Formats: sequence, C-alpha cells, structure tokens
Amino acid sequence: MSGKAGDPAAAAAGRAGHAGGLAGDDGGQLAGWELLTRSVRMQAPFLSAPPPAARGLCAACRIPVRPGNAHCYPCGLHAETLPGLLADVVVPICYAVKGGEHARNLWLYKSARPGAAVAGAALRALLVVFLRDHGPCVWRAAGMTRPSHLAVVPSGRGRAGPHPLRTLIGTCLSLPWAALDLRLRDEPWTRDLDAGRFKAAPLAGASIALLDDTWTTGASAESACAALRLAGARSVAVIVLGRHVSAPEPSASALAPGASAPGSAAACASVNDLPAMPFRPRLCAVHAHAGENGQ
Ligand SMILES: [Zn+2]
Ligand SMILES: [Zn+2]
Repeated sequence: MSGKAGDPAAAAAGRAGHAGGLAGDDGGQLAGWELLTRSVRMQAPFLSAPPPAARGLCAACRIPVRPGNAHCYPCGLHAETLPGLLADVVVPICYAVKGGEHARNLWLYKSARPGAAVAGAALRALLVVFLRDHGPCVWRAAGMTRPSHLAVVPSGRGRAGPHPLRTLIGTCLSLPWAALDLRLRDEPWTRDLDAGRFKAAPLAGASIALLDDTWTTGASAESACAALRLAGARSVAVIVLGRHVSAPEPSASALAPGASAPGSAAACASVNDLPAMPFRPRLCAVHAHAGENGQ
C-alpha cells in the first residue's frame, strides 16, 4: 500500500482498495491498489499529459498554445468574461485525443454499450491513483491545504440521477459532495460560460475539488466553478480526466478572422505537439517536486 498515511488525498482515495466492481478485487486493500496502479501502468504508454512547469501550454487548461500566447482561445475569453470566478487551478490528468483510446473510454463509460464497464474501470484507476499520488500537488497549486468537498461538473444533458463520474468513483472517495445542479435548462445556447448556468448549495469558505471527465472548451467546468464561488467557496481546483484535443481544422482560419492574433483560435496548437509529452504517472502538471524521480 503506497498511500500516504495522514494525507488528505490518501484519505480521499483510501477506499480505492475496495473500489466496487473491480474485476478480480477479492477484497484486499493492497490487492485493490495493485490492480489500480497496474491499470494505470498499462494505459500509460498510450497516453500523453501536460508535464510540470512546461512552457508553451495554456495557463488554464494546459493545451499547447503557440509561442507568445498565455491562454488558448476559450480560456482567454473566459478570463475576460468572469474574472475572479474561475478555477484556481485546472489540472488535466491526460490529454484525450479525438479518436484515441482514452477519448473513446470517456464517452463509452457513460453509455450502455459493450465495454462500458471496462472503460469505466480504466478511468477510475486513472483518477483514483492520481488523487492519491498528486492530490497534494493540486491542492497546493490551488492555495488550499486540502479540499473540504468534492463536486462533479453536472452533465450538460441533464440526465436523471447522479452523474456517471460520481457513480464511478463515489465508493472510492470519502469527502462530502457539494450539491451542484443545472439551473438553466440545457440547450445548445446555454452551454457557453455562464455564472448562472448551475446552482450550488451554500458553501461558505469551502475548498472544492471539482472533477470532470472531459474538458473541451472548459465552459461547463468554469461555469460550475463560478456557481461554487457564488455559493461561497473560497478555492476551487479542477481535475480533468481528459483535456480534449483534436487535429487542426483546415478551415479554422476561415472561421476565425484575424486568427493570427494572440488569443485567437490560431493560438491553439495541435495534436502534433503531444508525442513530446508522454504520460508519466509519477508526475503531474503542477507537480510539487518536479525534478525528482529522475524526470
Ligand atoms: Zn486553455
Ligand atoms: Zn504531482
């Protein structure tokens, strides 16, 4: 068991050994962690992730951006639109490349299709092991000692019942969940950044670990952050299973006049940058001890 005793992240993830539904988990916590870390090791060669202290990444969502740009296009817009209400830090565990296995898992686990349980088990392992190993890095980057609450970005589809991500990992985590729900009826035009899109129960002084499966523009996660802050949350750290990355659109420049300007759509670099950023389970984008572990 490599969980860190007394560590709030370890406390949050400490039940992972009993993560319900793990194939072959015969109840031993050690066996549970071994299964989880083995799953992460098996996925790692096929994943890419933002390295710590990397240059050339969006300061918010960590997608590659062209030199001279601090933010990708959506994150730049969000910073102008809701200053003071956005996340303290956003940490993607991995990139989710369109058409790749990780991106496939991220939609498959929410479906009723064959393979959904296997996809869910892979994602659960990635998230729970990340929380155990890098939770403290994220909390530090967000300016909190530890989260007081967990939350999941509500589904844009307004499906009934708990969010699939909460269902997937709820048995692994021990912190209370913040109540966060859709306020606006979900329509295509309500999916932009909007501080009124979600509503949260009062959370005076709370520190929130806000979990999301996929970050595309970040509008949903940042809208959820805004709702949490308006409910009184002091700090919000967003942890994302997959920061969506797609190949560049040949017609992008035609859709975005002035696209060469900083902060424009062309400020976003492409999937071509990812091979240089392999997923390393020992590191995260905000790793507290970058440079150790021989990396
Ligand atoms: Zn960004
Ligand atoms: Zn870390």
